[in-house]
Amino acid sequence: MSLAEEKLRTLTSGSRYDVCSPGECMQYLTAAPCIAYSPRAGGCGKMLKVLMHGSCSYDCAYCAVRTARSRFSFTPAELAETFLSLYREGMAGGLFISSGIPRDVDLAMHDIVETGEILRRRGYEGYLHLKVLPGAERSDIRDAARVANRISINIEVPSGERLTSVSGVKDYRNDILKRQAWVADALPGGHTTQLVVGAADETDAEILRCVREQYRTVRPARIYYSAFRSLAGTLLEDHPDTPAWRARRWYQADFLLREYGLSPGEIGSVMDEEGFFRNADPKVLLAAGRPPVDVNTASWNDLLRVPGIGPAAAAKILNRRAKRRIADYRDLKAAGVRGRAAEPYVTFGGGGSVQTRLFV
Ligand code: SF4
Repeated sequence: MSLAEEKLRTLTSGSRYDVCSPGECMQYLTAAPCIAYSPRAGGCGKMLKVLMHGSCSYDCAYCAVRTARSRFSFTPAELAETFLSLYREGMAGGLFISSGIPRDVDLAMHDIVETGEILRRRGYEGYLHLKVLPGAERSDIRDAARVANRISINIEVPSGERLTSVSGVKDYRNDILKRQAWVADALPGGHTTQLVVGAADETDAEILRCVREQYRTVRPARIYYSAFRSLAGTLLEDHPDTPAWRARRWYQADFLLREYGLSPGEIGSVMDEEGFFRNADPKVLLAAGRPPVDVNTASWNDLLRVPGIGPAAAAKILNRRAKRRIADYRDLKAAGVRGRAAEPYVTFGGGGSVQTRLFV
């Protein structure tokens, strides 16, 4: 393997813990350098996810970049050229750049931004996602927003207290939240963030408070959730892994908050007494605790709370019942409800309820 190939392999491998799209990046954790990428998340085809610098002087207890202490770094010109070659060969369709902070955060952030600027100057018009590093200058954040389709800063944990338990260098309020507000200001609706679920022994109730604040204040387009994995050589190498289902429950809960308009209180009501999700779909747990919904009279909001009914099916139900009564499950299917997930949670008026069951 040539030195250039070894560098690319090392620096793409180091970036694999940044999640861009639920499930998919985790699925490809061992794949390098190109990663299948979801167009839903704003990308295109194959994404090259890569680190600018492979080492970091910070001390985040869960981080593989810090432990790897890689000797490899790209210069902005090198990374731009490497990506453009892969792009021209059809091996990469988009670029995501993150970085360790070997010395000074401003130097690393300048390198990231300069790479983006070179690519744009050289005529690259495709997808570009630039990571904003903790403590970055506001002017660099603005420059990143100017050249990128998407920018992001990882909050990683839900509070300052929790960050203190895993990092002695980063300051949650100043290095993360303040920068995230600048990110939101520079690219409203075009930024995302990531939480590493379970890294700091936080409860899901704590994450819920954080997520509620995120969507109320800085309004990221997406929050990505990755289940904590202990990595050899890190300070948390003996810490238990977070089960993958817990991150999945977070994607489901987040969707209910963002797309279905459920309240944080409703989401919190399905957690156990210690403030953790059970391993069951939150929407199913909520529905199991409520009386069945009469599909002929239910409001939009009540329809959306039925498992198996999303906004498209709810709209079709309203449309259909405006013309004629929905008499049974066959009618409901004809109205656009797929599968049988809704069946235990609906009635058709006149006492046609079905026994409640719990699906997970
Ligand atoms: S700042 Fe922390 S999480 Fe980021 S690369 Fe450095 S050690 Fe890792």
